[in-house]
Amino acid sequence: MLRTVITASLPRLSRVLTCLYSASAIPKPNTQPEVHYNKLFINNDWQDAVSGRSFPTINPATGEVICQVAEADKADVDKAVKAARNAFKLGSPWRRMDASDRGLLLNRLADAIERDAAYLAELETLDNGKPYAIAYSVDLPNVVKCLRYYAGWADKWEGKTIPIDGDYFCYTRHEPIGVCGQIIPWNFPLLMQAWKLGPALATGNTVVMKVAEQTPLTALYVASLIKEVGFPEGVVNILPGMGSSAGAAIAAHMDVDKLAFTGSTEVGHLIQQASGKSNLKKVTLELGGKSPNIIMSDANMEDAVEQSHFALFFNQGQCCCAGSRTYVQADIYDEFLERSTVRAKRRVVGDPFNLNTEQGPQVDEEQFKKILGYISSGKREGAKLMCGGGEAADRGYFIQPTIFGDVQDNMTIAREEIFGPVMQILKFKTLEEVVERANDTKYGLAAAVFTRDIDKAHYISNRLRAGTVWINCYDVFGAQAPFGGYKASGNGRELGEYGLDNYTEVKTVTIKVPQKNS
Ligand code: NAD
Ligand code: MG
Repeated sequence: MLRTVITASLPRLSRVLTCLYSASAIPKPNTQPEVHYNKLFINNDWQDAVSGRSFPTINPATGEVICQVAEADKADVDKAVKAARNAFKLGSPWRRMDASDRGLLLNRLADAIERDAAYLAELETLDNGKPYAIAYSVDLPNVVKCLRYYAGWADKWEGKTIPIDGDYFCYTRHEPIGVCGQIIPWNFPLLMQAWKLGPALATGNTVVMKVAEQTPLTALYVASLIKEVGFPEGVVNILPGMGSSAGAAIAAHMDVDKLAFTGSTEVGHLIQQASGKSNLKKVTLELGGKSPNIIMSDANMEDAVEQSHFALFFNQGQCCCAGSRTYVQADIYDEFLERSTVRAKRRVVGDPFNLNTEQGPQVDEEQFKKILGYISSGKREGAKLMCGGGEAADRGYFIQPTIFGDVQDNMTIAREEIFGPVMQILKFKTLEEVVERANDTKYGLAAAVFTRDIDKAHYISNRLRAGTVWINCYDVFGAQAPFGGYKASGNGRELGEYGLDNYTEVKTVTIKVPQKNS
C-alpha cells in the first residue's frame, strides 16, 4: 500500500515523503552495507578481469573508496559475448525454454529483488549518493514493477496473420535479435538495469551489460540474484568497466547483434558510429535533454512551484528528462521566481542515509566540477543568481540547490545539459512564442505544461517536439508507457509494448496454399 501511494504520486513526492518518514514506514538503513560481489559476472560465474586490473568505486558522500571492482576490458567483453552467443545457440536451454517459463524467471527475479530491497537501496545509496528513502521507496518498487510488467509480456508478444494477395498463408513471428549489448549510466543504476533487462529477456535475447564505472555494485548483486533464480548460464553477463575500453569494445563487436545505450549524447554519437563501422548492429539510444517546463499564468501556483522544483531537483538534478528550462508566463513570473527560490532554500541537502534528506551528493568529482563550471558560466553570462551557487559541504560532492532567474535562451545554462541541481527560469509572453522557444533545441526528450485550460494544454502539447509531454505533472513514469526521445535525445522507445520492438526481429513466413486436393 505504502509503495503504491508513493509510486503513484511521484510529482508530489517531496511532500508525501515528509509524512512518511515520521510514520517510520521506511526501514532504518544500515549505513555500511557489506559488498558481496565485486567481480565480473560471465556465464553465471564470478571472474577476475583477464588483465587482472580493478578500479575503485567511490562513496560520493565522502569521496572515500568503497572497494575495488574488477575492470572489464576488450578481452573480457570477448569472453562475455562468447558466453551470450553460446546461450543463444539453437537448442540451448534458453532457446528451448517455453516463453511462459522465461516470464516465470523474470517474476522470480522481481521477487528476489523485492525480498532484498532494503539491502539494494542501501547499496545504491552508498555507491550513487541518492537519498536512501528515495532509493527504497521509488527506485526499488519501480525496478520490481518493470520486471513484472515484462514478465507478463513473455508469452504474449504475438505475431500476426496477414491477408496477402494470392493463395498464400502469411504470418509473422516475433523472434529475439540475439546477443544484446547494453550500456547503462549511473543516475538510476538499478532502474536502468531493469529497463534494459526486462524487454531483452522477455523476448528471449541474451545480454552483455556494461554498467557505469561510478556505480557498479547494485548491478552485480542483481547478477547474483539472476543466478539464484535459475537463468541458464550465459543468458545475462554483467561487466563493470570503463566506457572507452569495455563500452567501446561492446559497441564495435562483430558478434553483438544489438546495442542499447543510455547516457550522454556525445557517447551516443560514438555508439552509432561504431555500429556503422562494424556490423551495423541495431542501435537504440536514450540520450540527454534540455526539457522545457511551461507554466501558464492560469496554473495552480502552489502546485506548479512544487512540481517544477521536483522536475529539476529530483535525483540531485541528474535526470535525462529534468525540467531544466522553466518557462514562466510574464504576469506570474515574479511571484513564481520568488516562491521557487523560497522552496529551493528549504531543500534539505545532506547525508543521503538520513531519512529527512531530499538531496544527496552528485555522483562524482567530475560531475561536481562540471556543474560548478556551469554555475560560473551562468553568473558570467548575466543570469540572476537567486540562491545557491556553490558547494554545500566541506567533503563529498554536495552542491547547493541553485536557481537562476532572468535566463536568456542563448545562455550556456539554457542550452546545455547541466545534470545537476541548477534551475533556469525564463520569462515568456504568448503561447506561440513559448512553443517556438521550447522547440529551439537539439534535444526532444520531455516537456511539461502547467495550465488549467485544456485547450491550451492540447495546443502546446501537440506542438512540442518531445517524446513525453506531462500536463500538470512531472516525471510520472509507468512501466506500461513508452519513454524516449525526438531529435538528438535518442532513437527508439523503452518501456511499454513499444519497448519490445527494440528487441525483436520480425520474420514473415509465407506458405503456398494449394487450391485443389491432389
Ligand atoms: P557517459 O555517456 O560517458 O556514460 C554513460 C555510459 O556509457 C557509462 O556506462 C560509460 O562507461 C559508457 N561509455 C562512456 N564512453 C563510452 C564509449 N566511448 N563507448 C561505449 N560506452 C561508453 O556519461 P557520463 O560521462 O557519465 O556523464 C556525462 C554527461 O552525460 C552527464 O553530465 C549528463 O549530461 C549525461 N548523462 C545522461 C544520462 C541519461 O540518463 N541520459 C545518464 C548519465 C549521464
Ligand atoms: Mg560509486
